[in-house]
Amino acid sequence: MTTQVISTIAQAEAGTSLAADYIRKGELVAFPTETVYGLGANGLHEAAVQKIFEVKGRPDDNPLILHLSKKSEVRDLWDTVPRQAQPLMDNFWPGPLTLVFRRSARVPDAVTAGLPTVALRMPQNKTARALIAKAGVPIAAPSANLSGRPSPTKAEHVREDFDGLIPLILDGGLCRVGVESTVLSLVGKPTILRPGGITREMLEAVIGPVALAESVLAPLPDGQAALSPGMKHKHYAPAGRVRVVTGAPEKAAARILALARQAEVEGLSCHIAATTQTKARYRGWPHTLVGDRDRPETLCANLFALLRETEADLILAEGIPPADAGLAYMNRLLRAAGFDVEEV
Ligand code: AMP
Ligand code: MG
Repeated sequence: MTTQVISTIAQAEAGTSLAADYIRKGELVAFPTETVYGLGANGLHEAAVQKIFEVKGRPDDNPLILHLSKKSEVRDLWDTVPRQAQPLMDNFWPGPLTLVFRRSARVPDAVTAGLPTVALRMPQNKTARALIAKAGVPIAAPSANLSGRPSPTKAEHVREDFDGLIPLILDGGLCRVGVESTVLSLVGKPTILRPGGITREMLEAVIGPVALAESVLAPLPDGQAALSPGMKHKHYAPAGRVRVVTGAPEKAAARILALARQAEVEGLSCHIAATTQTKARYRGWPHTLVGDRDRPETLCANLFALLRETEADLILAEGIPPADAGLAYMNRLLRAAGFDVEEV
């Protein structure tokens, strides 16, 4: 199969129309969202959804998010409606917030991996919404990467993983948020299963206290069932290893430089993920400016591209406080590092 890439900046109408045709025919299409690129299939078509798992090599116990173009589309998909649903949808949809509800009988088992719940989101990206509206069905989509690899924030990343495996990639340029959506369960007390573009602080301002699943910043103990199955699988792995150093910027940078010198002695290539605050310290070492520690959303926006595009044996990165967008950043970074983290 040849994989066609269509720029939605140059050809929005033609691109989304062709993509919608593929979706209706049960084929897979990669498309941009404000979080990361998604690999979409007709979310009401069991066999089409099954293809997502095959192409990604995704474990079949890891459920998918259904993407909607209008809020009213939730009606056929959820069963019981918790009272927090409306204010959250009013404030954060369209946007990077996925809500988990009890599911209706209409949702195929392949989407929910057999769970009694379903994850729903209305993306903000105009191309994504136009595609869903034209397809006329909810689109089931995980991130458009091979299972275990960093999520794609550019169409080029998607092509690296799926060239020849899917018929079409819609290229909408860089994804604005750069990490996946926040997944909030509304089954029982509101609980963040995965932090993302909408922060805990933003949610609490609307619905009051929100709990955090234990797996957000820690590895799951062996044998424990995951609330969000995605949290237990290996994630975001770059070519080499990642090591994280947390602590005050100056101290963390000093320790990172010591680790870089040690890597050099061992004959390992290393690359440093620098921040605005520490960049000058890393002069003379291979480094990339990821973002500003005081604006963690800038770090989120660039993390996956760094993990994907860096070929060094070792990536050294500063940890930041897990507040606001820093929570989503640390959730992804710690997983990429396999929880290899040191505090100074
Ligand atoms: P991805 O967008 O590739 O990161 O995959 C979707 C994420 O949503 C995974 O982490 C899933 O575990 C999570 N998810 C999807 N459906 C559910 C659900 N019904 N309950 C809990 N988590 C879900
Ligand atoms: Mg993913």
